[in-house]
Amino acid sequence: MAMLRSVFLAAAGSSRLERLVESAPVSRGVVRRFVAGSGAEDALRTSRALADDGLAVSLDHLGEDTETPEQAQAVRDEYLMLLSRLREAGLTPAAEVSVKLSALGQKFDPAVAVEHARAVCAAAAQAGTTVTLDAEDHTTTDSTLEILADLRKDHPTTGAVLQAYLRRTEADCRELAASGSRVRLCKGAYAEPESVAFQSALDVDKSYVRCLNVLMSGDGYPMVATHDPRLIAIAEDRARWFDRSSDEFEFQMLYGVRPDEQARLAADGHTVRVYVPYGRQWYGYLMRRLAERPANVAFFSRALTSR
Ligand code: FAD
Repeated sequence: MAMLRSVFLAAAGSSRLERLVESAPVSRGVVRRFVAGSGAEDALRTSRALADDGLAVSLDHLGEDTETPEQAQAVRDEYLMLLSRLREAGLTPAAEVSVKLSALGQKFDPAVAVEHARAVCAAAAQAGTTVTLDAEDHTTTDSTLEILADLRKDHPTTGAVLQAYLRRTEADCRELAASGSRVRLCKGAYAEPESVAFQSALDVDKSYVRCLNVLMSGDGYPMVATHDPRLIAIAEDRARWFDRSSDEFEFQMLYGVRPDEQARLAADGHTVRVYVPYGRQWYGYLMRRLAERPANVAFFSRALTSR
């Protein structure tokens, strides 16, 4: 399993393989399970359907590691357009957006990324909703958390994402578990070296629980992002222990993953937010989903061979 994970995570960074997979006609069916569609129209339709089922959403316009100022500007403009359409459609505040700073230019000019992120936060505020900054590989963590602190001066509800596989994360949770902060806790989806990240599933899970304890006992708003039944049960237990009602924390899961569990938690009275990616640049996202679970790989191979 660890071997498969590293193969798919290495594939996520290969542009040659990206061209090959994207041009395979069967890919579309596979993508459709995890991605809402290619345009804002698809994102809106999916958000409406999920809202009708009592689920909140966070929309992610797919794309990362933007290389030019023009691309970064186009990503910003897509989010501005999306936010105004969500507002017009009456889908806010149940729909918010998730943003990757690398898509806004963080790697070639952090100042440009900050400027664009600020514009997206302002548009979200105008639409009556929030922004969460996705976490990417560990080389970006310091920069992302600095940018978050800066954005929160004007937009205090801007959400952070912390990855339990990073050794630093329990300390980051302590920093961020303050009143008014929104923190999404996930396991982490990138290939990371042992020097910075726990490598075994057990160590990652143990770190997740320690982080969960910090967030649930703190004063912020924890966003528990996992499909793991044991961690979900522990989160429910901690929420009871720390007397958190359904508007004082939420569960989050990915579009297409464990929809029955999403419905069960919502029916139990929990706030459940589905992370919904849309757009044409689905390759890196899909490879990370395949890395997570052998059953996803089996699903992908069946689609490749069943034509
Ligand atoms: P896993 O260890 O993948 O799975 C644990 C258990 O969950 C499995 O054993 C199984 O019992 C169950 N399970 C998992 N998948 C399925 C399935 N398809 N069907 C049935 N059971 C299943 N990562 C980042 O690095 N940065 C981010 O910004 C980020 N944002 C995220 C936002 C959300 C809302 C979510 C849910 C995840 C996000 N991730 C992000 C990804 C995350 O880091 C993990 O890679 C991903 O969620 C898989 O971890 P898991 O906690 O679900 O547990």
